[in-house]
Amino acid sequence: MLSRNFSLSKHNTFGLDVMAAYFMAITDTRDLKKLRNDRIFIEEKRMILGGGSNCLFLDDYYEGLVILIENKGINIVSEDNDTVHISAAAGEDWTFFVEKMVNAGYGGVENLSRIPGKVGAAPMQNIGAYGVELKDVFYSLQAFDLNTGELVNFDCNDCEFGYRTSVFKTIYKDRFVILSVDFVLQKNPLLKLEYGAIKQKLEDLGVHKPNIKDVSRAVTHIRESKLPDPKILGNAGSFFKNPVIHNLVFDDLKKEFPDAVGFSNNHNTTKVAAGWLIEKAGWKGCRKGDAGVHKNQALVLVNYGKATGREIYSLAMEIQQSVKEKFGILLEPEVNVF
Ligand SMILES: Cc1cc2nc3c(=O)[nH]c(=O)nc-3n(C[C@H](O)[C@H](O)[C@H](O)COP(=O)(O)OP(=O)(O)OC[C@H]3O[C@@H](n4cnc5c(N)ncnc54)[C@H](O)[C@@H]3O)c2cc1C
Repeated sequence: MLSRNFSLSKHNTFGLDVMAAYFMAITDTRDLKKLRNDRIFIEEKRMILGGGSNCLFLDDYYEGLVILIENKGINIVSEDNDTVHISAAAGEDWTFFVEKMVNAGYGGVENLSRIPGKVGAAPMQNIGAYGVELKDVFYSLQAFDLNTGELVNFDCNDCEFGYRTSVFKTIYKDRFVILSVDFVLQKNPLLKLEYGAIKQKLEDLGVHKPNIKDVSRAVTHIRESKLPDPKILGNAGSFFKNPVIHNLVFDDLKKEFPDAVGFSNNHNTTKVAAGWLIEKAGWKGCRKGDAGVHKNQALVLVNYGKATGREIYSLAMEIQQSVKEKFGILLEPEVNVF
């Protein structure tokens, strides 16, 4: 049912007190087909919403239609001795999906444990953590084209996955509603333990022969110790992407700042830790009204209570400007601004 003046305060992890002029929760394709014929759909601007954990609403009133994705279902499509092909509805909670896979012994998503949000948004920015990205386990997805009303399948190439991006974040933004995502997971998985503090955490937990459950547990522990819980302190995780620069530029940065943090890529480029840049520019722990930079994680902007989206955004823009002036490097927001 289409609602008017619907509060989104429980639908965005910044905890912003935002209202949508029009709102509709979608549980299947028929809802979308019906919605396409509605006057509100035709006349108003619109956005697609999952768990709201990567969104920043600038104003306290969104003058348009918010389409919330709430379809459910996780099914095995096929399996053999080594792999299992799973299809998950876009409205399923990502953490619930990962836990279900880990408990079933299907490997591949354990490093992506506890990323907030829903399954449908995961391909949107090719979510990643601890050395694994969504594209590593992705098979295909099905999406509803809001322009034509047709269902379209996308394989990995069609999605053009990159670092925190895909066609759904660029050329097809707000056009395709992702309805389901298909994954290929492993029954005898190779664990990825090299990234971050996973090995150390497993040792701390007294685990010597880890399985996927142990890795998921280690990642959960690390995340809980490093990142603020949005239920307690509003945030959307990393506000900016880690900028990718040429190795030669990073070498120059290192000469001036020997403690600069970067991770070498394959193609003559280095991913610089945006958190390091922001911290070095003096922003860590800084607070302007109720908008702030987290005291332990400079990459995470937080809402201490009554900040507006615009206050958080203007703090982000000040940070962007100051990092540009100090290092000549442009920070690109990871968070989707509406
Ligand atoms: C504490 C915290 C930690 C985080 N850690 C990570 C991390 O480690 N790695 C990482 O990659 N991200 C991380 N994030 C960001 C976020 O969790 C992911 O981007 C997540 O996939 C967003 O899911 P969502 O359902 O909340 O999407 P939303 O915030 O609702 O939407 C995000 C974007 O996707 C679009 N969208 C949502 N659903 C659909 C759909 N079904 N079809 C088409 N478009 C859609 C929206 O229009 C919007 O542009 C973190 C966020 C928080 C708060």
